[in-house]
Amino acid sequence: MSLLNSTHDPLLRSWVASANSAGCDFPLQNLPFASFRRQGSNEAFRGGVAIGDQILDLAALAASGTLTGAAQAAAQAGAQPRLNALMAMGPAAWSALRLALSEGLREGPAAQRGWQTLLVAQDLAEYGLPAQIGDYTDFYTSVYHATNIGALFRPDNPLLPNYKWVPIGYHGRASSIVPSGQAFHRPIGQTKTPDVEVPRVGPSQRLDIELELGIFVGPGNALGESVPMAEAEDHVFGICLLNDWSARDLQAWEYQPLGPFLAKNFATSLSPWVVTMEALAPFRVPFQRPAGDPQPQPYLDSEHNRAAGAFDIQLAVDLQTAAMRDASQSHAPIVQTSYRHAYWTVAQMVAHHTVGGCNLQPGDLLGSGTLSGPTLDQAAALIELTRGGQHPLALPNGETRTWLQDGDSVVLRGWCEKAGAARIGFGRCEGSILPAKIPSQAM
Ligand code: MN
Repeated sequence: MSLLNSTHDPLLRSWVASANSAGCDFPLQNLPFASFRRQGSNEAFRGGVAIGDQILDLAALAASGTLTGAAQAAAQAGAQPRLNALMAMGPAAWSALRLALSEGLREGPAAQRGWQTLLVAQDLAEYGLPAQIGDYTDFYTSVYHATNIGALFRPDNPLLPNYKWVPIGYHGRASSIVPSGQAFHRPIGQTKTPDVEVPRVGPSQRLDIELELGIFVGPGNALGESVPMAEAEDHVFGICLLNDWSARDLQAWEYQPLGPFLAKNFATSLSPWVVTMEALAPFRVPFQRPAGDPQPQPYLDSEHNRAAGAFDIQLAVDLQTAAMRDASQSHAPIVQTSYRHAYWTVAQMVAHHTVGGCNLQPGDLLGSGTLSGPTLDQAAALIELTRGGQHPLALPNGETRTWLQDGDSVVLRGWCEKAGAARIGFGRCEGSILPAKIPSQAM
């Protein structure tokens, strides 16, 4: 099965000149979707497609009369403030729109068709969440993260026996998912250390990041119906960057027996751009289990998943402190890893989530879980990078960080590159920490 088509041709160039520059996240072969409007305006949010440093306005495109058929229907769905209706349409509609966008944005005889007037500079835009997110489920698909975290709590038995059999996840909080760029207050909650009798109530002292990918559900499934592996990817619209901010001290006290609660529900940041599964096709890699590990059970297995169910997406985390910002020093890299190290694939997450009849809906969000790679410099959370807070990170200006401080800004980045394919990127997912907002009642 070839998943590649004319829209992936690495030789394609766009009449939007910035899309052709080396290292650009948004060349013609990418075409990711966001919800946007002009900064500081009262315009309605609507869907847009990134091309170079510009956004092609889907509402303006749908009104232009230059598309027909399935592509026009998809553009009309994408013209709404959130992308749920477009997500609900499914792969044939997404693919028809992608081909029409690719042809309309290419250099050549059909070039432009008046589309120049449909562009808005990304510099002038602000972004909303890509979808109205009904439900958010966070998985735990990095065996390295699970092992690193487990080792901090259970040195003799780091990985629980269920891990290699069942994709672990929990139902998260959708209402506090925020778009990239939005700052949030340091969370408050209960913490308890062995030296005190009564738990302390106050701002978290162990605020952390989790570098994850966010997976947007496309067409849903009816309650009571499961989605088999062979169809699982048809239910996935695309992938973005996700920072699952975590208060480790709150988590340690509250997580037994039902899992994280206030440690995770205060903010989750999402990047604006959703890269489609079709755009990611050149970067598929085989899904393989290490020798000696159990093979996935039949409901989590397919030939396609084994051949090409994983994705080689490069991922990085950059940190900037308030002092760095004041001195005009840019974000410093602290982590680099790849999604190819995940133990469970996107298709397996969908198949497992629904096997008991749970209904997914268009615009639902799945988190991949913290995507730590096999070595310590690929660890995707501070709790791992600092080995439980014992070994602070050194920053280029001489500061150190064990946990996040007020004023810190964290940027996630993602991109795909390989010989014979055009490099594509995910843009940025940025969030920053405001001081805790102390409630008026005594604590
Ligand atoms: Mn998480």
